[in-house]
Amino acid sequence: MNRLPQQTDAPIHLVSVSGGKDSTATLLLALELHGSDNVRAVFADTGNEHGATYAYVDYLEQTLQMPIVRLRRDFTDMWWPRRDYVRDKWPEKGVPPEIVARALAVFERGPTGNPFLDLCIIKARFPSRMAQFCTQFLKTQPLTEHALEMIESTGRAVWSWQGIRIEESDSRRKRFRGTGSCVAHFDVLGGGLFNYRPLLRWTADDVFEAHRIKGIRPNPLYLQGRTRVGCLCVNSGKEEVRQWDLRDREHIERLDEWEQIVSEVSKRSNATFFPSPGDNDTARERGGIWQVVQWSKTTRGGKQFDLLAQLDESTSCSSAYGLCE
Ligand code: SF4
Repeated sequence: MNRLPQQTDAPIHLVSVSGGKDSTATLLLALELHGSDNVRAVFADTGNEHGATYAYVDYLEQTLQMPIVRLRRDFTDMWWPRRDYVRDKWPEKGVPPEIVARALAVFERGPTGNPFLDLCIIKARFPSRMAQFCTQFLKTQPLTEHALEMIESTGRAVWSWQGIRIEESDSRRKRFRGTGSCVAHFDVLGGGLFNYRPLLRWTADDVFEAHRIKGIRPNPLYLQGRTRVGCLCVNSGKEEVRQWDLRDREHIERLDEWEQIVSEVSKRSNATFFPSPGDNDTARERGGIWQVVQWSKTTRGGKQFDLLAQLDESTSCSSAYGLCE
């Protein structure tokens, strides 16, 4: 039976670490204020992270001498029901037999074990700005389940610390100016679970200063001109794509393979990592990952790749946070 947390129990401070500067600063702050006995750290591993970020999480774990629990979603529970749906329902819906057979061949191999890829196979598409299901399935759900299990097993409330800053995003800044508040410092979610966002008004300088004071180096990816160090994201801008191609071509090659696999389970035989307008069978040729890479190398505007112009253009330079100086 669930035991609701008691008022007298000190809460557990749970920090979700992404390998980025903001979540690292959040963890450092939690440790400073509450000590390692009351702080727990988790890392939601999407399977689409940069190798340097995995290494950085290891570094944090060793340097701070605390375990960082890796949460890696297993999609077996959704995989086989989806296989059955494709096998039983697609023919009824008039999907051509060769497309059903091709999709089934992928499902019969079983889950790949890579959360990001398995999720895209099950959804038969990559996430997008309008359908950002990756965040929900790969991050929010596993983190919430982990927090709820923690409440149940310890009987203590959990404060889920989130390293969100208002300055970080234009929309957050605008909403904040218009209403006086956008994201709350503190939310009561019920059942002993709370959201806490202590960095809302911090600047990027404050964040790096917290690293410096504690003797923790930031993720080295920032030194390569990257403004964010999470997954190679479906929301990436032009400069980010260019950086990935320049320094991590094997990751781009892997995305090319993923586009091939997800295309095999797609009814329209096409799935591209970045949105490619149109439903016809040339979508992948026009908007596949290599086309986006080509576009990322064009000068401002990249007229020859107008279809991709909806991707934001990053304005970061190679020392966007002044770390090279
Ligand atoms: S960083 Fe981007 S691709 Fe990765 S989970 Fe978040 S929205 Fe999805």
